[in-house]
Amino acid sequence: MSRLIFLGVPGAGKGTQAALLAESQGIPHISTGDILRAAVKNQTPLGVQAKGFMDAGNLVPDSLVIDLIRERLQEPDALKGWILDGFPRNVPQAGFLEQLLQEINQSCDRTVNLDVADEVVVKRLVERGLASGRSDDTEDTIRHRLQVYREQTEPLIAFYRDRGALVTVNGDQPMDAVTTALKAAIAV
Ligand code: ADP
Repeated sequence: MSRLIFLGVPGAGKGTQAALLAESQGIPHISTGDILRAAVKNQTPLGVQAKGFMDAGNLVPDSLVIDLIRERLQEPDALKGWILDGFPRNVPQAGFLEQLLQEINQSCDRTVNLDVADEVVVKRLVERGLASGRSDDTEDTIRHRLQVYREQTEPLIAFYRDRGALVTVNGDQPMDAVTTALKAAIAV
């Protein structure tokens, strides 16, 4: 059973690696970005509220993602484990998660920091934007998301290191090598 949090700059490969690992472990991959993008696409109340923040490369208000995570982690498929990708993304969200896990008698096994240099991810994301048409993958918005990451999400590395559950994996390697390194890092 695994309960894992994935941290890393936009474009570090969290989504790809989290999906692969979740599949191989038979646990859900819970990506707040994917859930929000689906909500935007379907024009649900959540999507309507989130769209402007996402297009600008800002975080959506904590209350929106907190409600979503509270419900998602209590669904039956998440009882045996999960991989969180894109949540928590700031210190208040991490505080909320700690409290929620306590309430539902769960604990996180590891936090994985997928490490990739800024220049590498800007190039990856510009390419992804061209290929996928994702509206927040333009160069200016990408640079803004990196800045948001530095200011709001990076402090979580110290937060989880202090709790003794942080592992760092080099994300600037071929995809298979990252998967291998990741599996080794969470096995210890
Ligand atoms: P990336 O890591 O490439 O930025 P994500 O799919 O994780 O992509 O997130 C895309 C956007 O969704 C973010 O820029 C933000 O607007 C929103 N988002 C996702 N997760 C959260 C969260 N936990 N808190 C606030 N906003 C979020």
